[in-house]
Amino acid sequence: MPSGAFDLSGKVAVITGGNGGIGLGMARGLADAGAAIVIVARNEAKSLAAVTDIEQRGVQAISLTVDVTEKAAVAEMVERALRALGRIDILVNNAGINIRKPPQALDVEEWDRVIRTNLTSAFLCSQAVYPVMKAKGGGKIINIGSMLSIFGAGFAPAYAASKGGIVQFTRSCAVAWAADNIQVNAVLPGWIDTDLTRRAREEIEGLHDRVLARTPAARWGATADFAGIAVFLASGASDFVTGAAIAVDGGFSIMG
Ligand code: NDP
Repeated sequence: MPSGAFDLSGKVAVITGGNGGIGLGMARGLADAGAAIVIVARNEAKSLAAVTDIEQRGVQAISLTVDVTEKAAVAEMVERALRALGRIDILVNNAGINIRKPPQALDVEEWDRVIRTNLTSAFLCSQAVYPVMKAKGGGKIINIGSMLSIFGAGFAPAYAASKGGIVQFTRSCAVAWAADNIQVNAVLPGWIDTDLTRRAREEIEGLHDRVLARTPAARWGATADFAGIAVFLASGASDFVTGAAIAVDGGFSIMG
């Protein structure tokens, strides 16, 4: 492996849902490796705070207020990122929501909202950056799955469908775009302490302890646990890795 294989100086990374949680954890890792950062999310105040956080790491950062479920907004997002920073080398499809209900209670509008936010957005953003990456001779796309890419969950049918779909979408893009030197991989987080799971822990009694008992690492994940995998999958160190789905879960998915 050449020295400096993890160096991202001169690269630009777009992170959907990068204003908090796992997305911000990845953005910080990519910034520390030298990449300029584009934070894409809806909550402008939260995004501006994330930009300040990233700038303190000594790289350029901007935020774009975008609903990633809207095709026109995604196209405009790519144009604005290019105008501001000149290139896009790395895309992290991380924006996600969950609506916790069993299948028999979920409205089709709720189903659509989850699928559009977690899966269709990854399609729209990947499709929009593809010509930009191809023209520059390559790129890196990182899609965020879940333990529910692997397991079923009675309380999250749309979420699990979207996250299972993310893995197959990842593999399809990896095959389609390998000849363009674009590597496409998925990261499957275990149970991570973020706004998303803080609410789940309040609503689901005993969840906190059940996760601890089943996780060999004996702790919940932290957003900082995603810095390393982001840098690896965004850098030259992973040039022969594509179509993979890598669990970052403290061993949750291999616990017998
Ligand atoms: P957060 O709720 O902290 O982050 C979700 C992010 O998605 C926010 O930044 C939010 O920003 C953004 N977002 C949601 N909808 C949209 C939209 N329509 N357009 C643009 N941005 C949007 O959760 P996490 O950090 O926990 O989750 C990040 C990813 O990791 C998700 O895909 C989630 O499914 C996945 N994941 C999380 C796990 C965990 O244990 N925490 C486990 C497995 C997977 P804003 O509201 O400002 O738009």
